[in-house]
Amino acid sequence: MVIGLDIGGTNIKGVIVDSTGVIRAQTSVPTGKAILETEQHIVQCINILQELSHITKNGVEAIGIGSAGAIDKHKGTVITSPNIPWWKNYPVVQQIQKLSGCKTFLENDANCAVFGELWLGNGKHFKNWIMLTLGTGIGGGAVIDGVPYTGRAGSSMEFGHTTIDYNGLLCKCGRKGCLECYGSATAVVNFTKSHISMYPDSTIIKRIKQESLTAQLVFEEAQKGDALALYIFNLIGQYLGIGIANLVNIFNPEAMILGGGLSGAHEYFMPRIIQGVQTLALAGMKEDIYYCLTSYGNYTAAIGAAKYALDNLLE
Ligand SMILES: [Zn+2]
Repeated sequence: MVIGLDIGGTNIKGVIVDSTGVIRAQTSVPTGKAILETEQHIVQCINILQELSHITKNGVEAIGIGSAGAIDKHKGTVITSPNIPWWKNYPVVQQIQKLSGCKTFLENDANCAVFGELWLGNGKHFKNWIMLTLGTGIGGGAVIDGVPYTGRAGSSMEFGHTTIDYNGLLCKCGRKGCLECYGSATAVVNFTKSHISMYPDSTIIKRIKQESLTAQLVFEEAQKGDALALYIFNLIGQYLGIGIANLVNIFNPEAMILGGGLSGAHEYFMPRIIQGVQTLALAGMKEDIYYCLTSYGNYTAAIGAAKYALDNLLE
């Protein structure tokens, strides 16, 4: 029995899984806003998982942590994390081992999402596939001949920072025209702002007088048929189609799996992605690609973190 925790800027998602891949419980708690608070919430998450699954502390053999940001998995530290800024050279493995009494392992959250999808999700049906996680930014992953490719330092597949317009929008990484400026939840918000004056009748205008503009809000208005919302999702689908066509030309994948919060709005941009790949990718590469979503939604990386702990225990 292992626990997997996916620690993001807003929430900590946790699962407790047995070695055959049966998920015994899952839960989500807020991350908090300071070192001590986050530690308390991690402990709370572990306790809830044990209560829900009726598995005692002694029944849990290891904990896997998936963390955003730059990590040193051998030292067990988070070096910096843009979404968890109170973790600077933070010894997460040592702290969680101390708090939980369990052997703990650390891996990058994007890799965890790939491990989770490969173990229990749609990824298990294919040998060669790519995954894009569409959230605040864009993460990625690739499995080649059944093996996740993670690069020399374990931080490859930064699909979000591949350039689709060399003179384009300024990215927070300092470069211009990165895919995540065009196809993430942040891009949905920014494009809505920059196009709103062209849609004076949009219901979004009324809503943002009372509440803040989010990708979720744009999605809700797309469901009601708002022309601006539909235009924005079509636009990001067009850009994602360019980025994914590039990936198709590199990886020749059998499947393209979308995850992350924004993938919940897939019906409004997936057709445009597929059309983009059909137009832009090479013949012999673009045919018969299976397009789908991650099987466990927001829990994919937590499941992968559990798998990572399990594999390390068995080594
Ligand atoms: Zn970038």
